[in-house]
Amino acid sequence: MKRNILGDTGISVSQLCFGVLPMGPNQFGLSPEEGGELIREGILNGINFLDTAQSYNTYPHIRKALDGLKGTRDDVVIATKSAASTYKEMEAAVEEARMALDRGVIDIFHLHAARVDAKVFKDREGALECLVDSKSKGLIRAVGISTHSVEAVRAGKDVSEIDVIFPIINKEGLGILHGTKEEMASAIKEASLKGKGLYAMKALGGGNLLADRKGAFDYVKNLSGISSVAVGMVNRDELAMNLCIFNGQQVPDSLADATVRRKSLIVQAFCKGCGRCVEICPNMAMEVVDGRARNDSQKCILCGYCAPVCPEFAIRLV
Ligand code: SF4
Ligand code: SF4
Repeated sequence: MKRNILGDTGISVSQLCFGVLPMGPNQFGLSPEEGGELIREGILNGINFLDTAQSYNTYPHIRKALDGLKGTRDDVVIATKSAASTYKEMEAAVEEARMALDRGVIDIFHLHAARVDAKVFKDREGALECLVDSKSKGLIRAVGISTHSVEAVRAGKDVSEIDVIFPIINKEGLGILHGTKEEMASAIKEASLKGKGLYAMKALGGGNLLADRKGAFDYVKNLSGISSVAVGMVNRDELAMNLCIFNGQQVPDSLADATVRRKSLIVQAFCKGCGRCVEICPNMAMEVVDGRARNDSQKCILCGYCAPVCPEFAIRLV
């Protein structure tokens, strides 16, 4: 598996990053044991980069994976993120990750800021300050931002405290906010020229680009400035298939249909119309109409962010 250095951080990451969102309770609900085994298999086959978040509830899965490793454990790079706004909230998020993952140092810690624009650095000044302090105390190695916004990537390249940027990009421009696919690609290149490390999310557009998986991966892998591509995986066949693609090998016919994905989102009748799903959705794919949430399937990328915030458990990805 090819490795690249993330900008000026010196952190070496595999070109395929294991996205540890879909296996968790927000989507497929693998147990920590099942998920941990799958992650470990990925690591033993050359992946050294894992991407998670406080809100994904998958720290136990990663910890199980690491518990089963010996020599290769220290080679694993973990990126996580938190939607914390204040210094105090972010301090708690960093501590939670260190404890839950049983890692003294978290490699990359992002502001989890999917849908906000360039104002994020001002609006979440306290959280950013905490990450900078955490880095100087040696609790994290790099400060980052994960974002769907072209404007945030553009602004991030000029924020000296930001080491790593994790933007959404895919060949159809699905889910990109505040600009086009071309503008995002150009913002990524400019950030990289400023020494930022960048890795990409949603290369498959939340599963919408699976019909041409290789083309979708090739588009993102070949973008100037992208060091790694985070891909969610939930079973061994899917892992094997993605390893083949990223290692430049032919995918065997037996793995051609390996990817399992949620196909639609259902809002159940007992929705109370509280609007929390509308607030969290990075893609403006939810609105409350006549007291009930309605999903726009043209905008929804089935990321699963909305389901866990629903107090009524009214959202199902099926
Ligand atoms: S969060 Fe749940 S209850 Fe609230 S509007 Fe959305 S689906 Fe309905
Ligand atoms: S509606 Fe839910 S699953 Fe769809 S894009 Fe928004 S947060 Fe993600």
